[in-house]
Amino acid sequence: MRFTPTEEQAQLKELAAKASRQLFATTIEKDEEEGIFRREIIRELGKLGLTGIPTPVEYDGAGLGYLEYAIALEEIAAYGAAYAISVAVSGLPQVILNLFGNEQQKKKYIPPLARGEHIGAFSLSESHAGSDAGSLKARAVKNGSEYVLNGTKLWTTQGNVADTVIVFARTGGEGPRGVSAFIVEKGTKGFRAGKTEHKMAANASPTCEMILEDVVVPASSLVGEEGQGFKIAMTALDSGRITIGATAVGLGRAAFEYSTKFAKERKQFGQPIADFQGIQFMVADMYTALEASRLLVQRAAYLKDSGLPFTREASAAKLFSTDATMSITTDAVQLLGGVGYTKEYPVERYMREAKVLQIVEGTNQIQRMVIGRSI
Ligand SMILES: Cc1cc2nc3c(=O)[nH]c(=O)nc-3n(C[C@H](O)[C@H](O)[C@H](O)COP(=O)(O)OP(=O)(O)OC[C@H]3O[C@@H](n4cnc5c(N)ncnc54)[C@H](O)[C@@H]3O)c2cc1C
Repeated sequence: MRFTPTEEQAQLKELAAKASRQLFATTIEKDEEEGIFRREIIRELGKLGLTGIPTPVEYDGAGLGYLEYAIALEEIAAYGAAYAISVAVSGLPQVILNLFGNEQQKKKYIPPLARGEHIGAFSLSESHAGSDAGSLKARAVKNGSEYVLNGTKLWTTQGNVADTVIVFARTGGEGPRGVSAFIVEKGTKGFRAGKTEHKMAANASPTCEMILEDVVVPASSLVGEEGQGFKIAMTALDSGRITIGATAVGLGRAAFEYSTKFAKERKQFGQPIADFQGIQFMVADMYTALEASRLLVQRAAYLKDSGLPFTREASAAKLFSTDATMSITTDAVQLLGGVGYTKEYPVERYMREAKVLQIVEGTNQIQRMVIGRSI
């Protein structure tokens, strides 16, 4: 594993940073406040090859690895965590179809997602089935050459704007083995977004209830085999945890850079607060947590790219980096003092955004469970 980026990785990093500065760095604050998601940003990121980084070239992806994906997502998140989340979530159907889809499904659904022309979503959770996703209740009943889906899903990131949604529904008995995965296209009769959640943060990344009322899909919409859905979801989340970790690193970096610059400028007792050892110790801890987070995320990505087992490492990366970013963003508010607590400065938003990363794609308690069990 290299500790310095290759020339190609350095170029990708710069490309992602430049695009983020141009496309949303100056509008994200307002969009977060007003809950506006800008679809055209995903389209523009797609034109630069940033919405299908690990997707094979034959399906219009960039054909790179998760290490490159993590590098790019860190940059995007440093300017707007909501768009890093959007790119990562649109990546989930691409990963699922690439690994479990048949050739027809791959050819039809992956290329527009990889190009950023379509938006993807992953609809697993329900009101009573979050950490225990295997207990989900939405049903899919086979009827000749079709399935009929009914139920209510919750917490579907960008479900209201997605063109291609992977919906998990029960085809068999109780428990994880009765779950199957389906491709449901936007506009399918009976399939619609319900309420959009009014969240603590990340409101530029909408999160929705998804309602399925006698939704008829062709049997060819089944991904893999009946009963394989839970395995498909868990496999996608293994990779997804690397992307959430990378998002945490970018967000933590933004908070670190903003607050340390402030500490060098803000004077109290006749000197910059950065000169006080009490402040320097905080900054040193923030720096160390950030560096360790990036290394864990990139190591999990490296293992995945090398075809080695990476489930435990991806969970450890997600757990450590998101806890670290919660702590870094909280300390960033502290470094700014009173103004850090106001909306005049971005650090309070970073702190609110950090919280959700400890919850999504398996809460950090669930990551500890994954790691503990594997050991
Ligand atoms: C903004 C946002 C976006 C989301 N996007 C998506 C999405 O796109 N698709 C999707 O399918 N889902 C999505 N989710 C749902 C998310 O994955 C769940 O919220 C998460 O898995 C936790 O489920 P829950 O909210 O039902 O909490 P619960 O599972 O009820 O957990 C409540 C608390 O109990 C703890 N807990 C639960 N079980 C255990 C255990 N065995 N041991 C120890 N502690 C435990 C949890 O860690 C948590 O602290 C999103 C959620 C949010 C907030």
